[in-house]
Amino acid sequence: MRIPLTPQSTSPLYQQIESYLRQGILSGSLPAETRLPACRQLAHDLGVNRATVENAYAKLQADGLVFSRMGSGTYVLPSNPLAEGIKNNPEKDWPLWQKSVQARSLKSKSDTVEEMLQAAGHPHPIHFASGVSDSRQFPVNEFRKVIQSVMRRDQIAALEYGEGNGYAPLRAGITRILASQGLQTSPENILITAGSQQAIFLVSQVLLKPNDIVLVEDPTYSGALDLFRTLGFQIIGIPMDGQGMQVDKLEKLLQQHHPKLIYTVPNFHNPTGTCLSSARRRQLIVLADRYNVPILEDDFVGDLRYEGHAQPSLKALDTGGQVIYVSTFSKMLMPGLRVGFIVANGPIYDSLLNFKRLSDQATSTLIQRALDTYVTIGRYQAYLRRSGQIFRKRRDTMLNAIQQYLPDEVSFDSPKGGLFIWLRLPQPISTDALLPVACKEGVSFVPGNFFFTDGASGEEWMRLNFAAQTEEDIEEGIRRLGKAMQQIKTING
Ligand code: PMP
Repeated sequence: MRIPLTPQSTSPLYQQIESYLRQGILSGSLPAETRLPACRQLAHDLGVNRATVENAYAKLQADGLVFSRMGSGTYVLPSNPLAEGIKNNPEKDWPLWQKSVQARSLKSKSDTVEEMLQAAGHPHPIHFASGVSDSRQFPVNEFRKVIQSVMRRDQIAALEYGEGNGYAPLRAGITRILASQGLQTSPENILITAGSQQAIFLVSQVLLKPNDIVLVEDPTYSGALDLFRTLGFQIIGIPMDGQGMQVDKLEKLLQQHHPKLIYTVPNFHNPTGTCLSSARRRQLIVLADRYNVPILEDDFVGDLRYEGHAQPSLKALDTGGQVIYVSTFSKMLMPGLRVGFIVANGPIYDSLLNFKRLSDQATSTLIQRALDTYVTIGRYQAYLRRSGQIFRKRRDTMLNAIQQYLPDEVSFDSPKGGLFIWLRLPQPISTDALLPVACKEGVSFVPGNFFFTDGASGEEWMRLNFAAQTEEDIEEGIRRLGKAMQQIKTING
């Protein structure tokens, strides 16, 4: 343990040691049951007499902060009421500069809902609010083996910073994946990022400044809305229908607002699950080109298709460098890898790379190497095929359960891929009001207003994740949801 001591100070050394440890205990950084260093060891480390340390420990013990176990050492006492008082005290006297920092801790919407469900205390809660696929299916053992083999093969190189734009073989592998989806690009145009959230962040930093206008589908991915709001952008929504963004409304918005960016999720949109029609894709690119506005295409689950034909990505239709494409391995594989990527042409690529380096030097080279191997040996594609089959069945189970357990007046489209069903309730029921009742019944969802640009519209909508639960739980969860709706109806009269 390193304790900063000031021998010239008027306060004796034992007091300095005691006050340092006291602070650690009260702040929680030395939690209950922590074993303090042996007196002899600490005295040696600090270059003081053993008696000095013994005095400090004796004072802490007299104040009820530590206790000594015969022959074992000195330990921090459990659940110290003083420490609790300090931890929970929001009025703590922070330095002045701290008080001018705006507290902007934004939890993800699905985390907020999941906490609510947990707090409701149901013995078997069913989570439909999740934003990812089923973690119980993650290929944990396969990936562990891949990491081990990469460590054996690459040794030190696997633990260096690696290239700022990403591990070259992985960039080449991604190029091949994209080519199979009809998007021709080259590894030099790919920039590996820490998930697609960082990709959206980097594009925002490079292209926009506070008060600039960004056009988004309304509703849209709440993590993008949170990011744009935090960066001080003005967000204008483009209405949607069953074929995605209503591109016929776009031209007027472009003329009216002169946006700096159009952010869109054209495949299996979050939260609505819709796909932008082919005709609208072409129209969107023509308009963006005409008004000189970049398009940020977020293809977060593009490969999770359960039926129908894939549409060309906007990037594949783009010949002039108008589109910046971002995607991720979070939903199609595992979010904890934190690997996403940008495909960009032209001068913006270097600018994005520069911001990437400034932000975190590089994405973990070990994980990139493991992912590259996982893709190269064909495991990624096999995993995707397997997940696709499972999620398709789960989607069908949820659609059937909705028909069986929810009122006839609910409306929804069957998504052809992705993770979500976007469900509209009969008018007088607000999903915000329904949520606590549903949580009590043991089921969660994300209320629609989380996804709208004004933060208020869409209260008759909810997002349900069908991929993250087993078929049995899906059926039971929807049954509970039906029960919660019935209760709300009764309350509303
Ligand atoms: N885009 C969309 C549409 C998402 O839903 C998410 C995750 N919820 C992301 C981007 C970011 O995911 P990640 O950073 O894990 O790639």
